[in-house]
Amino acid sequence: MTKRIFRSILCVSAAVLLAGLIITLGVLYGYINVQQRNELEDEITYLAPGVEAQGVEYLKKLENTDKRITLVDRDGTVLYDNETDAGEMENHSGREEIEEALQTGEGTASRRSSTLAEPTIYYAKRLDNGQVLRLAGSEYRMMTVFANLLYPICAVCLLMILLAAFFAMRSSEKIVEPINRLDVEDVKEGDVYEEIAPLIQKIGHQKETITNQVLEAQRQQREFEDMKEQMRREFTANVSHELKTPLTSISGFAEIIKDGFVKPEDIPGFAGKIFEESQRLIVLVNDIIKISQLDEGGIPYDREEIDLYDMAEEVLGRLAEPAKKKNINLQILGEHAKIRGVRLILDEVIYNLCDNAVKYNRENGTVIVRVKRDRRGIQLVVADTGIGIPKEHQDRVFERFYRVDKSHSKAIGGTGLGLSIVKHGAAFLGAAVELDSRPDEGTVITLTWKAA
Ligand code: ADP
Repeated sequence: MTKRIFRSILCVSAAVLLAGLIITLGVLYGYINVQQRNELEDEITYLAPGVEAQGVEYLKKLENTDKRITLVDRDGTVLYDNETDAGEMENHSGREEIEEALQTGEGTASRRSSTLAEPTIYYAKRLDNGQVLRLAGSEYRMMTVFANLLYPICAVCLLMILLAAFFAMRSSEKIVEPINRLDVEDVKEGDVYEEIAPLIQKIGHQKETITNQVLEAQRQQREFEDMKEQMRREFTANVSHELKTPLTSISGFAEIIKDGFVKPEDIPGFAGKIFEESQRLIVLVNDIIKISQLDEGGIPYDREEIDLYDMAEEVLGRLAEPAKKKNINLQILGEHAKIRGVRLILDEVIYNLCDNAVKYNRENGTVIVRVKRDRRGIQLVVADTGIGIPKEHQDRVFERFYRVDKSHSKAIGGTGLGLSIVKHGAAFLGAAVELDSRPDEGTVITLTWKAA
C-alpha cells in the first residue's frame, strides 16, 4: 500500500511538474517575443530621425548593428538593405509589415525570411517622408529557448523530482501509519480515517460471523460425535440381542435333547432347527463383520475396473436357486458399463439388493436388473414386483437392524443389515442410492455413478 501511494504521489507530482514546465516555457517564449519586438521598436525610434534627415547615407554610416535594416520607398522599392544589395531585391510593397506600416504608420510580422533563411521578426515604421524603415532580427523559436535553457531546466527538474520523491515517501508513510497501527479488535472513534471506519466495521462483523460459525461447527461436531457414540452403543446392544436370540434357541433345543425329553424319531427335526439357527448366526456374524469393515475402512484397497453388467449377471446366477423356489423370473437388461471400485464391496452391494428383490417378492414375481449409461453417468437399477416398502419406513430401512416387518424378515432369513451394507458400500464406491417403492407394487433401488 505504501508503495502504491508513493507511486501515485510521485506520478501526480511529475505530471504537475511537466505541465508547469510547459506552461512556464510558453509564458517565457511569449515574453521573449514581446521583448524582441520592443527592442526593435526602440531601435527604430533612435534611427528614424537620422534617416529622415540624411536618408540612405545615414544608414550606410551605421556600424555595429546586429539587426537587419531595410529602407523601403513608399511604392515598395527597396532603397537600402544592410545585408543584401538593394538593387537586387524585389519590390517589398507586398510584405505584411510594410503594407501595415504604409497604412497605419507601423507594422509587425513574424515569418521565415527569404533573404536570411531563418525565423525572423520584423518591425516597420513609416517615416515623415512616407518611406518605411524596417528592422528585422532573428526570432527565438520555442526550441531555441528550450535548447538554451536545457541545462538549468534539467537541473531544476531533477531537483524537483528528488524533492517530490522524498515528500511522496514521507507522505505515503504518514498516510499508511495509522492503518498499520490499527487494532481491529479495539477500534476507537478517531483512531483511523473515517473513510476506513465502514471497512473496520465490516471486518468486525465478519469476525463475529466467523467466530459464530466456528462455534456452530464445533457444536455440530460435538452433536455428531454424541450421535455416533449413541449409534455405536445401540449397535452393540442390537448385535448382542440379535446374537442372543438364535443362541438361546440353539441352547434350548440342545438342552432338551441332552435331558432326554425328545423322542429319538424327533431328534433329526430338532437337530435341523439347531442347524438352521446356527446358519442364521453365521450369516449374521458375517454381515456384522462386513459392516464393521466398511465402518473402519478395513477392506484391502484393490480398486479395479469392473463391468457392472457382468457382475450383476453373475449375482443373479447365484440367486437362481431361491428365485426358482418362488418361481421368480430374473432378468438382466441394458448394456455393459465399467466403474472403478473394489470388487468385493460391489459384489456385496449388488447381492444384497438382488437378494432383497427376491426375498421380498411374491410368487411368480419378476426381478429386473438394468445397467444404463448416458452422459450424466452410469446407473444400476434393481426393480422387483414384491411387497414394497410403506412410505413411513422408506427413510429408515437403511438403518442397521431396521426391518419393516421383523418376524417376516426373520422368517425369510433377513438380518436387518443388508440395506445398511448397501448404503455404506455405495458411499465407499462413490455411488448415490435412491429408493422408490410402492406397497404391493414393488421396489426400485437405483445406484448412480455421476459422470465427472
Ligand atoms: P433384511 O436382512 O431384513 O432384509 P435389509 O437391511 O436388507 O434387512 O432391509 C431392511 C428392511 O427393508 C427389510 O427388513 C424389509 O422390510 C425392507 N426391504 C428391503 N428390501 C426390500 C424390497 N426389495 N422389497 C420390500 N421390502 C424391502
